[in-house]
Amino acid sequence: MRTFTEIPFHKPYITEDEIAEVLDSLRSGWLTMGPKTVRFEGEFRDYLGARNAVSVSSCTAGLHLALMAAGIKEGDEVILPAVTFTATAEVVTYLRAKPVLADVDGETFNMGASAIEGKITKRTKAVIPVHFAGQPCDMDDICALARSRNLTVIEDAAHAIPASYRGRKIGTIGDFTCFSFYATKSLTTGEGGMVTTSRHAGADRMRTLRLHGISKDAWKRYTSEGSWYYEVLEAGYKYNMTDIQAALGIAQLKKLDWMWERRKQIADLYTASFRSLDAVQPPAVKADRESAWHLYVIKLSLDALTADRNRFMEELRGMGIMASVHFIPLYRHPFYRRAFQYSALGFEVSERIYDQIISLPIYPGMTDEDVTHVVEAVAHVSQKFKR
Ligand SMILES: *Cc1c(COP(=O)(O)O)cnc(C)c1O
Repeated sequence: MRTFTEIPFHKPYITEDEIAEVLDSLRSGWLTMGPKTVRFEGEFRDYLGARNAVSVSSCTAGLHLALMAAGIKEGDEVILPAVTFTATAEVVTYLRAKPVLADVDGETFNMGASAIEGKITKRTKAVIPVHFAGQPCDMDDICALARSRNLTVIEDAAHAIPASYRGRKIGTIGDFTCFSFYATKSLTTGEGGMVTTSRHAGADRMRTLRLHGISKDAWKRYTSEGSWYYEVLEAGYKYNMTDIQAALGIAQLKKLDWMWERRKQIADLYTASFRSLDAVQPPAVKADRESAWHLYVIKLSLDALTADRNRFMEELRGMGIMASVHFIPLYRHPFYRRAFQYSALGFEVSERIYDQIISLPIYPGMTDEDVTHVVEAVAHVSQKFKR
């Protein structure tokens, strides 16, 4: 029996740099939000060239606070793609507003401006474009539409660090941009997130809301420059980052450009190898933007195969290659069906691509040999099930 090297779907890239920075925090005696969190916010903001960066406990928390800062309230509608993680839509329901799903483009799997336009009603207040797999959405079209219809643009950039669109970094374009530092994301703090915004008042509101609704420098009340006195301005949340997380973030940010270069190299190796396979379509890449390459999603040409997507993935797993699917369209989940009566109706593209997509392993710690293993397994399975 042949044995195969196991290639996990993801491995965070953690080295002695991260370990040293975390140890430094532990030894400093300051564990939760404090000087390192503030430093990480500043370094992240400067890396992107953003006006404000507000750290939070997750991208989900960031999306929630951005919606609040945008003034979303009960009865409002927020347009977002059908193909995304539940967090993008779930936060809208926190405010008793309605997540309105739009179909995605069949090549980039992003939500386009025309799909958004078709869903606008007089109750629409915001749009949440998701930069799928790290490739930016058509931000010029989306922002122009949003401006003309008075909608706030809140980008779900959970996949998009670092990514750029027409020479501008993601994080400097929409009204609010929410990043994720979850364990599987391109820059990780274990759990964590950041919201960038050019709106100073919105940033201040989020700073207040993330820590119980108390005045924005509340964390300072335990420092020598702080004071015991504080006021609760509104009912807030416990959404702050900790210095232990920020320590990881500071170390990760230093190697972000290198980690991105490596992701790009892996994507290029995959794409060059898959060009010769009839049954496998590599991701569509737009020339005027740079993907973060958080995910590498292939599309199967089912006409050329006798196996379906699930069978294809099982075969890969049998060869030690752990793949995944991003995402099960939201209208397929019991909650969204029940709460908003969603069905596959009106989501022809999302429904079609859902049967075709497979996310392959892509992370900076992969060796060229690992990449070759994946390529060979994909080629082997496509050959085995050639129609
Ligand atoms: C991971 C992810 C999120 C949520 O990020 P957390 O930091 O885990 O809250 C939101 N949207 C998308 C598209 C994601 O992939």
